[in-house]
Formats: sequence, C-alpha cells, structure tokens
Amino acid sequence: MTEQLGVVTSGTGGVWRVRADDGEEHEAVLRGRLKKADTGRRADGSIRRDTVAAAADIIKLAVGDRVRLERDAPEQTWAIAEILPRRSRLARRAPGGGRGERVIAANLDQVIVMFAAAKPEPHARMLDRFLVIAEANELAARIIINKVELVGEGSARERFASYERIGYPVHYTSVEERIGLDGVAVALAGTVSVVTGPSGVGKSSLLNALFPGLALRVSDISESVNKGRHTTVGAFLHPLPHHVGGAVVDTPGLREIGMWELPARDLDECFPEFRGAREQCRFGDCAHIAEPDCGVRAALSAGEITEARYDSYLRLREEILAPT
Ligand code: GDP
Ligand code: ZN
Repeated sequence: MTEQLGVVTSGTGGVWRVRADDGEEHEAVLRGRLKKADTGRRADGSIRRDTVAAAADIIKLAVGDRVRLERDAPEQTWAIAEILPRRSRLARRAPGGGRGERVIAANLDQVIVMFAAAKPEPHARMLDRFLVIAEANELAARIIINKVELVGEGSARERFASYERIGYPVHYTSVEERIGLDGVAVALAGTVSVVTGPSGVGKSSLLNALFPGLALRVSDISESVNKGRHTTVGAFLHPLPHHVGGAVVDTPGLREIGMWELPARDLDECFPEFRGAREQCRFGDCAHIAEPDCGVRAALSAGEITEARYDSYLRLREEILAPT
C-alpha cells in the first residue's frame, strides 16, 4: 500500500481532487469508515474519529483540508484515509456552530476582500459584510482596492482610510498600470487566502498578472451559473507556484452566506473598532441602539466609530433578525 499526504483542491462530496505533496494530482474517495465516523471536534479543533456519527449533516471534508491518501494495491485507486487536524475554517456558521455547520474551506490564513475604486462603484455595505464574515470565522482580513488609476490613488486612499484606522491592511492597486502589485504578491506568498468580492473588480486580472497560469475560474461564470438557484458551487484551491508557496481559494460560497447564520448578539464583536467601546455600555447585552449609557453610541458621537460603519452594523443586524 502506498501513502501520501496532500491537500484537497476541489470536490463537494463523492470524488475529491487532492494535490499530493509531491505535486501529483489524484482523484480520491473518502474511506467508508471515515464517512461513518463521528467527525465532531475536540476542543483543540482536531477531528474525532473514535465514536459513531450522531449528526449525519456535518460535512466531513472541505477544500483546503490536509489529508492522508492511501492507494490499495489491487484496485490502484486512491482513498482518503485520514483528515488531519484543521487550523482554521470558513463556515456558514461561526466556529463551534455544531449541527448544520457547513465548512466552505479549511486551513485558511486570511480573507482578501477586493473592490474597485470605480467601475463598478465600491459598495461599503458589501465590504462590511465580507469583513464581518471574516471576523465571525476568526480569520484575518485584508482589503484590495483595484482600478485606482480611474480615480487617482490619493482619492482612493482618502476614501478607505477609515478601514486602515480600524486596522485592516488596504492595498491600492491598478492591474492596468501595474500599481501596488508587489505588495499584494507579498501578502499572498506562503499563505492560504480566500479572494472574494463582486465580479468585474479585477480579481482574475490581478491574480493572473501576479501568477500567470493559475487558470482561475472566471467569477462571472460561476455567478451566472448560480443565479436564482440554491445550489452551492464548491470552492477551488489553486496552489501558488512552488517558489512562492501558499494558495488562493476561489469560492462563490462566501457571497452566499446570509447574515442570519450569525447570532445577532455576536455581531458587535465582528466590528473590531466597537470592541473597546462596548465595554463601556451599561448593559452587558446592549444592542447599541436605544439603550442608555451606550459606549458604542458614545464612540460614534466622538467620531471614533464612523457613521457608515455604525449604519452597516444596524442594517446587518436587521438582516439577522428579519431574514428575507
Ligand atoms: P473579476 O470578475 O473580479 O475577476 O474581474 P476581471 O479580472 O474579469 O476584470 C473585469 C474587468 O476589469 C476586465 O475588463 C479587466 O480588464 C478590467 N480591469 C482589471 N483590472 C483593472 C484595472 O486596474 N484598471 C482598469 N481600468 N480596469 C481593470
Ligand atoms: Zn451599547
């Protein structure tokens, strides 16, 4: 029997594609005993395989998972014999969600949210939504503002300075004029990043400019395929060239996450600039709307929290409480 370690690059159940550490790609199925095993997690995040499944709806394997492959001599087919412990995940529920949790991708280092300075116009609420999803999954987030040559770099910087003040790194790029590309290359190198954002902002252009031959799926296609349906197109992991290391994960799944999958009471924690202020609220369960002695609203009046971000908080909260 041959053994290999590798990373899952695509698949949503049934047959999975695994890139072995020697660079070979294999198709593999999940071992039957693994499928039946309980994949609940220990406190350290590692996967328990010692007890019988209680919740059949837990998806056991995701793109980005590190696995041990075995090849049986007679059939010469590869099987996934073990899922190695995960260091992080992006799920449709906050970590620890348990039953019904769907893992979109595993072992991510960061979420990169990309918008254009113009064409299409950046959408602050959508940006905040992606940042909240990253925060809820305890993943670092980074912003790219592309097409800066259309408005001038200075004006783009001014517009997004408030995000830099919160602590999010912001890259200002133009694929067209090759501005800021090196900084993005450094941020991607050696890390596993989900790159997301609306279509037409230049995600494929940017990644192809940095890593020719990555063969990214064009986002417009995956989006139109998905339009009006409730199916989820799975994630794809694209390993970056060997000398660079790391990978880019391409998934429409992030766009489909509804805010209602986060508990409303945790939303304020997903706004990093609220964290200090909420300690000052009189009530521990303050929603920061009409309560007396609210630290968040005090910080808003003092200009430490922007109107735009507070407004995003209110609207995302409404989305959670009254899903459409
Ligand atoms: P995606 O949908 O986010 O992957 O975006 P694409 O990479 O397909 O790019 C959408 C359009 O924007 C294409 O016509 C690109 O040529 C164009 N584009 C990409 N980067 C830039 C840029 O820096 N400046 C300008 N003006 N156009 C760009
Ligand atoms: Zn409050």
